[in-house]
Amino acid sequence: MADQSFNAFAMAQRQFDRVAEMLGLDEAARALLRNPDREFHFNIPVRMDDGSVTVFRGFRVQHNDARGPCKGGIRFHPQETVDTVRALATWMTWKCAVVNIPLGGGKGGVICDPHHLSMREQEGICRGWVRQVGRAIGPVQDVPAPDVMTTGQHMLWMMDEYEKMNGGHFPGMITGKPLGQGGSEGRTEATGYGVVYTLREALLRKSIDIATTTASVQGFGNVAQFAIEAYTNLGGNVVCVSSWDQGDQCSYTFKRDSGVDLDELRSMTDRFGGIDKTKATAAGYEVLDGGAWIAQDVDILMPCALENQVNAETVLKVSERVKFMAEGANGPTTPEADEVLAAKSVFVIPDFLCNAGGVTCSYFEQVQCNMNYFWPKDEVLERLDSIMTKAFHAVTDLAEQHGVIMRDAAYMIAIQRVAEACRLRGLV
Ligand code: GLU
Repeated sequence: MADQSFNAFAMAQRQFDRVAEMLGLDEAARALLRNPDREFHFNIPVRMDDGSVTVFRGFRVQHNDARGPCKGGIRFHPQETVDTVRALATWMTWKCAVVNIPLGGGKGGVICDPHHLSMREQEGICRGWVRQVGRAIGPVQDVPAPDVMTTGQHMLWMMDEYEKMNGGHFPGMITGKPLGQGGSEGRTEATGYGVVYTLREALLRKSIDIATTTASVQGFGNVAQFAIEAYTNLGGNVVCVSSWDQGDQCSYTFKRDSGVDLDELRSMTDRFGGIDKTKATAAGYEVLDGGAWIAQDVDILMPCALENQVNAETVLKVSERVKFMAEGANGPTTPEADEVLAAKSVFVIPDFLCNAGGVTCSYFEQVQCNMNYFWPKDEVLERLDSIMTKAFHAVTDLAEQHGVIMRDAAYMIAIQRVAEACRLRGLV
């Protein structure tokens, strides 16, 4: 996000335009789907711990709800922009459609840096966010969830504020809640696990034994950690992870050829996924610059951090050995980089398919909240695996059939589903 010239929404529109053209989508559907349905921009005044008031800027963008209530996370990030939120909301529409769950797309954000905010101040932001946009969200309108630097605790404060506004219990108004408070087993793991379910299937299709592969992961937040866990459980070896260093305001790559140890790294990590350099060095990790994760001689790359990380410049560092890329992040790869990866025959599992496990489990969470009956973890993960596996093969079959890249095939399925819903409703 440091690159000011990068605009995630312009990229999302470019990806959409390309496939809308391939599909011969009519003009009205294009006009409807290339911009969000509606958006909210607002102030959130918060009384800080020192007694002063800080006014934060908040957003909620509702891209499309033709297939069901808008759905998507809320990010807390110092460099958040409305265009980033627009892009992420748009990608949520395609994400829910490609895995065929009855939800639309939305996203929220607040420009803030939780590294410098107490929990009480963060609670103030959460409650203020809901007070500003509470009438436009809800179980049948728009359902938020966690994303970058937000957790189950943030969701619970938001739910509590919403319930105060509306007088009742509405656990289906938000997902990613803690267990026992309307949360679902497996929700925390779901995005990272889902990344690996699709990767496992990609390797199977190419008859590669996952236990013979190595991977390099960008990021060490929630998605990355559970992707590492699932991949390692299947016998894969992660040799590299990168993480943001708050003190130095840059990221570093932590490398160990024998493989990273997830629990060991977790024990030296702050709550935002920042790994302690000194402790990591003592444990035998080589500390490299933040961009080194992409240049590793591995079979698989997993960008699990932010957007615009695999771009025209960084893609040139991708080793000849890399044959798969599983996008745990939203929007990590630019269209220019896609072309280079296609020329190198890298099998890219595109973001809104690869990382759809989170929202799929959020959908399960809503279903369980509606029934007020909660499933055991095994059942949640089994259902998740089945939806992810089915969606992955549908996209891969279409990509092979039409000779297009995986991202275009995923867009073809998603756009057709959403356009059809808009047509059936008489919107276009
Ligand atoms: N923030 C996650 C995503 O980007 C999950 C969204 C949700 O569960 O609604 O997919």
